[in-house]
Amino acid sequence: MTAIGFIGLGNMGGPMARNLLKAGHALKAFDLSAAALDAAVQAGATKASALADAVADAEIVVTMLPAGPHVRQAYLGEGGILGAARKGALLIDCSTIDVGTAREVSAAAETAGFAMVDAPVSGGVGGAEAATLTMMVGGTEAAFARARPVLEAMGRTVVHCGGPGNGQAAKICNNMLLGISMIGTCEAFALAEKLGLDHQKLFDVASKSSGQCWSVTTYCPVPGPVPTSPANRDYQAGFTADMMVKDLRLAQDAAQKSGAATPLGAAAQALYSLYTGSGHGAADFSGIIRMLRGEN
Ligand code: NAD
Repeated sequence: MTAIGFIGLGNMGGPMARNLLKAGHALKAFDLSAAALDAAVQAGATKASALADAVADAEIVVTMLPAGPHVRQAYLGEGGILGAARKGALLIDCSTIDVGTAREVSAAAETAGFAMVDAPVSGGVGGAEAATLTMMVGGTEAAFARARPVLEAMGRTVVHCGGPGNGQAAKICNNMLLGISMIGTCEAFALAEKLGLDHQKLFDVASKSSGQCWSVTTYCPVPGPVPTSPANRDYQAGFTADMMVKDLRLAQDAAQKSGAATPLGAAAQALYSLYTGSGHGAADFSGIIRMLRGEN
């Protein structure tokens, strides 16, 4: 049993915290939202009165916060984790944030005497509930070895991607590829419709040939071929278009800073921004096929 301070009990953090409790760890939890905190307490966590209280006695601190500024504030701000945590504690940030902030916070943690890993996740709320998340980890070998048992209580696939920030790098590269491949898949199915080619027939070909990708085989953006895909339930998310825009922005930001050429990533960001800007941010990201068809 490990004493864990858990900060950020939202859509993802809530079920992740519950899985740590199920694995027998002792959790002291904090969230700015009283409702989110109460739900964690109902599940067996101890209520912390403030962020500093949640981390003061923790052997391991886990954060699952919305974006980079929240992470920076939680770690480096007044009353934040680096000032309040017990020396020697391991810090694990599971939020999806920009690589630069992840590396900056990790360096500050090291200077303050803490080991830290970035461990963003993929798999959505369903994966968080079922403890089947994929966890992409950046940090030293030693920090990864300490983090691994805790990460394995929340996820099924845990990959050490290299030094600090490399977990975030893997996450945004993967999600940029996903955004691009989903748009390509949607274009192919929309073209098939214009040509009088049946959805199932295109699926039967593309899922077994060179057009094969996750967006076709697991998350097909038209109803029918993959019964579990959001297309079969009016594009109810799933993974929201808003989240896709967030990740594509992070990828473009990283591409600009590092000098990588990502023209398709830029196009995907522009198309997804148009889609969310027309009021579909809460829809599943595969719903962009409707915009590509010219539907409202
Ligand atoms: P969420 O908004 O549901 O939860 C975030 C929680 O953090 C909220 O409960 C909020 O009150 C709390 N919070 C914010 N600032 C705080 C602070 N200073 N102290 C304490 N609590 C604070 O978001 P989510 O969907 O759980 O996503 C969390 C992270 O996971 C994001 O970075 C997101 O990009 C990433 N992610 C989400 C999904 C998904 O499908 N939802 C999938 C993969 C990754």
